[in-house]
Amino acid sequence: MHVQHHPLPASSAGQEYHLQSLHFGHQHSGKKTYIQASLHADEIPGMLVAQYLRQQLLDLERTGAIQGEIVLLPVANPLGLAQFMQGQPFGRFDFATGVNFNRAYRNLVPQLKEKLAGKLSDNASYNVRKVRQACLELLAQWPAVTTTDVLKKTLQTLAIDADIVLDLHCDNEAVLHLYTGTPLAPQVQALSGLMQAHALLLARDSGGNPFDESCARIWWELAEHFGQEVALPLACTAITVELRSQVDVNHHYAQQDASALIQYLRHMGHINGAPVEVPHALCEATPLAGVQPIQVPRAGILVFHKQPGDTVLHGEPIVDVIDPVSGEQDTVCANISGKLFARTAFRYVQRGTDVAKIAGSVAYRNGNLMAM
Ligand SMILES: [Zn+2]
Repeated sequence: MHVQHHPLPASSAGQEYHLQSLHFGHQHSGKKTYIQASLHADEIPGMLVAQYLRQQLLDLERTGAIQGEIVLLPVANPLGLAQFMQGQPFGRFDFATGVNFNRAYRNLVPQLKEKLAGKLSDNASYNVRKVRQACLELLAQWPAVTTTDVLKKTLQTLAIDADIVLDLHCDNEAVLHLYTGTPLAPQVQALSGLMQAHALLLARDSGGNPFDESCARIWWELAEHFGQEVALPLACTAITVELRSQVDVNHHYAQQDASALIQYLRHMGHINGAPVEVPHALCEATPLAGVQPIQVPRAGILVFHKQPGDTVLHGEPIVDVIDPVSGEQDTVCANISGKLFARTAFRYVQRGTDVAKIAGSVAYRNGNLMAM
């Protein structure tokens, strides 16, 4: 393993931050995996999983079992990790700008279309190299000035030429679920089975340029743009892994999740050894546009009827919202049938808050599909 330090410029005098990436295996050997933990810095399970991954990857490196390079960022967001407000961690949004740390990555596709016009061939591996080289050149030209933009530029640059990108997050209160690009569903089914995910949510363009999509969309969008005479494979499988709830930080889960990720890399041929048989998946892939956010029509106390992991039917009550002043109460019901996979950890919310998410099989939303 070798360690790289990536300095982040101080946003104020006297500050110092850097990002640390751990590199296992061999660089420039044809295969690359990129794994980052806790880009939303108040989502801690990923950092504990990274702790177990680090140990397992060191062992695998010692026995020569790593194919190519595996890059691990045990703390993807040291800026967010240092943000506390009156004792409360605040790692989802950049304090300075209010921008979500998992939004506003560079969508390189428009520039790539221009830059690569007439330069690609019918040779897939040649094209993959050309596209990755162009991506790195474009990212190098990103005039990132703020500390947060330098962080985003560094993360995207480390990941952009990887074959597999795993972005480890968690939700407020949730069962394990995954987000990926619609064309990548076949490659991600095995991870869904290995991690026993309760939802596998697909989108081609979820809105807001989240990290995983900024790495992966290039491949299906360029293939569509350049047409059939140019050979362009889906060269990056990027997945956002939601490791249950914010408080689900324990050795048992972390060990189990790290092992499942290692098994997935084995399954994908990035780690040597016979892959285990993939367990039967708990869910079918469903469209992100089929997720119903449960929104409350008034401020109030939440009393849930359903838990994360419950299958719910259209019309079933999900949550009561009780106004503690007037005593009035509403019951909000599901508008679709599906799996309730996440809900808020708060028990008093303001009017209009999305308090739970149900994965349904029929796409019915459009526009920006991501929560703030
Ligand atoms: Zn997150």
